[in-house]
Amino acid sequence: NAKAAGRRTVKIFTDAMAECLLERVRLENDLREALETRSGMFVFYQPITNLESGQVVAREALVRWHHAQRGWVSPGEFIPVAEQCGLIHQLGEFVLLEACRTAQTWPNKETVAVNVSARQLGQGTLLPVLERVLTQSGLENHRLELEVTETALLSEEIDCVSELRAVRAMGVRVALDDFGTGFSSLSHLRSFPFDKIKIDGSFVREAAHRPESAAIVNMIARLGHTLGVTTVAEGVETQQHLQQVRDVGCVEVQGYFLGRPAPEEADANAVANLNCGALSLERSL
Ligand code: C2E
Ligand code: MG
Ligand code: MG
Ligand code: MG
Repeated sequence: NAKAAGRRTVKIFTDAMAECLLERVRLENDLREALETRSGMFVFYQPITNLESGQVVAREALVRWHHAQRGWVSPGEFIPVAEQCGLIHQLGEFVLLEACRTAQTWPNKETVAVNVSARQLGQGTLLPVLERVLTQSGLENHRLELEVTETALLSEEIDCVSELRAVRAMGVRVALDDFGTGFSSLSHLRSFPFDKIKIDGSFVREAAHRPESAAIVNMIARLGHTLGVTTVAEGVETQQHLQQVRDVGCVEVQGYFLGRPAPEEADANAVANLNCGALSLERSL
């Protein structure tokens, strides 16, 4: 009857919720442990190429987590968890320090680009963290670039403008990541001090068969020229994608066609031993 069915429904719902919560707590604990013991945490690097010179001018640092039972967990899954439980600060500093130390060893002195979460902004902690990692690694400030997304800047309560200005005053560059997604507002480009705009990969990939997406890529590339800001096309997977973004005047490109994210030499063996190797990891993510 209805009453029994109602009770059953409530019970099933509760169990599912409890399971979900438990799962979440487990993931959180495992993440905390991984960060504390530095086990299973890696930083991979993906090349960013200048179209005019054909040279790799920067590499983006992308965090990777190998969980003992679950295998590779994608950042899309664990970054939000880290943001919600506060571990993002520890994770963020780990990636920054690791990336700066690694970049310090690159003979061609490419820039290293590090993603910064919304939660790392507007807390008064970013500048001291940057000072620390730059001192500890010895990396020249101008070789570090932070990637922030528009969503990070949208929370009006926090004043990111002065913080990002201070970051740039240190000589550290700032890039606007995933441009065009979320609630894009051109006024961001006026009020925030950026060195670079990264065109979201979804537009780049769609440009081949959707005129609207092609028009957006074209528009952002022109905007970059006008504002004197470097434009980077993300998600370049094919020769056709490359040709298209070159034609509209994007300055730099990043994507599987030019190189997948991969571990540094020092981590390559450890990663290969974690069952699948870097390439199959990148295919599975
Ligand atoms: P993102 O910063 O926009 O990074 C680009 C993402 O696109 C990466 O995914 C990269 O592996 C993927 N990608 C690169 N080239 C291609 C391509 O040609 N085709 C396709 N389909 N994808 C491509 P990943 O590593 O899974 O990271 C996802 C997002 O997680 C990143 O987006 C970034 O927002 C976040 N993330 C990654 N590492 C960190 C980190 O250390 N800290 C923070 N706060 N966020 C991070
Ligand atoms: Mg990024
Ligand atoms: Mg992006
Ligand atoms: Mg993204």
